[in-house]
Amino acid sequence: MQSELSIRLNDEGYKNWIKAGLCLQKVRDCLLGFVRTEMEKFHQFLLGTNSILRQQICTNFCRSQGTKFQGACCVCQQWKREILNHHTNQNNVIYWGNCSPLLWPTNAWEVAKVYMPRGQANRQGPENCDAAALLNLFVFCDHFHFQRQKIIEVIKCRNDLMHSVEMRVSPEWFENYRRTILVLLQEFQHIPEAKAANKMIEEVTSSDWKVKVSVTDEVDAPEKFSEGKLSVGDICNVELDLIKEWVEELGLMLAEEPLPQHLNRLNTFKEFLKHNKELEGVFHKELQQLFFLEKRLNNGKDM
Ligand SMILES: [Zn+2]
Repeated sequence: MQSELSIRLNDEGYKNWIKAGLCLQKVRDCLLGFVRTEMEKFHQFLLGTNSILRQQICTNFCRSQGTKFQGACCVCQQWKREILNHHTNQNNVIYWGNCSPLLWPTNAWEVAKVYMPRGQANRQGPENCDAAALLNLFVFCDHFHFQRQKIIEVIKCRNDLMHSVEMRVSPEWFENYRRTILVLLQEFQHIPEAKAANKMIEEVTSSDWKVKVSVTDEVDAPEKFSEGKLSVGDICNVELDLIKEWVEELGLMLAEEPLPQHLNRLNTFKEFLKHNKELEGVFHKELQQLFFLEKRLNNGKDM
């Protein structure tokens, strides 16, 4: 009899969802060194353009929250202005709550987070971020000169993955995704790590995984993978990271704009966990938080 794990990992749509997520992780990984170095350069550049940023620090313990940063002291006002000067779309919603203004003078990453989507507050460096956060930084900070449209296309694909109700994608979607992500990687060819990522992504997206959960515990045709065999354990780790990101995204959406489709996603997730008991244990805490949000929404409706 096939185990829950085996059925799940061999479901075409679900498998493609995981493969697509793995590719995004590879993109993120190959950019870490680059983005860290570039943000340090950008931070130095900002310090060099404005003497107030260099010579004064915030003594007011200014704090930002959500999309607002009001009542800032004169030093933070200067930082805010300089950071916005380098934003490629100032009409965008800015998630000031991502960062601690107090740390702007000494921490380049706190500046980087202004150009990112919500939910970055506890992420202290690129290694804690997902691919979407780094790609948004490339789009919205004018220090970077990539072809924005290529990045935006991948961000759209990433959002499809994270907003997929059933955590599945179609073969057609996957084929388009494969093209889109490989086109993006051409932009990063001057980054040495991107070459290896490109090869891995080509292999992952062109091979048909048949996951054998057995004594051998490995993925079919593993000889194709240059980084060595992908074990079921490796795939399960990708799966857990991906579900965690999906759940976090759902939590943010439920908290921000409780639309029927978000509640629908929550119900589908509950069903999914019912059929995959081992995951139910892993995501128990996250599920409780989602239940809490759901309850709060339902109570709100009654009022
Ligand atoms: Zn301040």
